[in-house]
Amino acid sequence: MRCLRVFCLFLCVWTSAGLLAAPRRAPSRSMQGCYDPMGESSPGLTKPLIVLDAGHGGDDHGAKIQSFLEKKATLQTAILTKKHLEELGYRVLMTRSRDVYLPLQRRVAIANKTKGSLFVSVHFNSSPSTAAHGIEVFFYNSKEAWRTRASKRLADCILYRVIDETDAHSRGVKQGNFHVIRETQMPSVLVEGGFITNSEERAKLRDKGYLDRLAAGIAQGIDKYMKT
Ligand SMILES: [Zn+2]
Repeated sequence: MRCLRVFCLFLCVWTSAGLLAAPRRAPSRSMQGCYDPMGESSPGLTKPLIVLDAGHGGDDHGAKIQSFLEKKATLQTAILTKKHLEELGYRVLMTRSRDVYLPLQRRVAIANKTKGSLFVSVHFNSSPSTAAHGIEVFFYNSKEAWRTRASKRLADCILYRVIDETDAHSRGVKQGNFHVIRETQMPSVLVEGGFITNSEERAKLRDKGYLDRLAAGIAQGIDKYMKT
């Protein structure tokens, strides 16, 4: 399984450093005291910027089984996550918003250049075992202790909320050495939102309502992280 995950994510990840833009404006809903109150009247540019990365794209389909292409599910989920995050008051930048190929280095460069507060990459898993199922979230064990701690906490927050929203099996938070979470300079995680090689899970992932719950969980996890 590790092999296939590597296959799936091989195209997706490598390096590290650190800038965390402090949140300055509360989400439009749920004002629970985690933000600088001065930010309440600040212009939109002071909202925290979340960088969402839909894995694969273009000629890089990612994992594929029958007509199910990982690249399509990652983009659908990222677009839905963007909607939820914007409803919560965040600015969102997507590394890709359509079906195009984007090198891993370009994804990282976008995140680092824009100094996003957080980076979240969305993928779906595959395995030689059709029984493998569930959701897992990866963070990179950076030499920068602060970024490792922050990334792990972000992963914990996202996994907790995603499992709550989807009732999927939790495979836990794990360390992973993937390019996009290694080379980005902010707290970064990679979400593996389910196994397309598991027929039951694949059927769920074909359902936009399920993907929307998955996306809502990711957004809520990010919001929880930002508020605590
Ligand atoms: Zn992938």
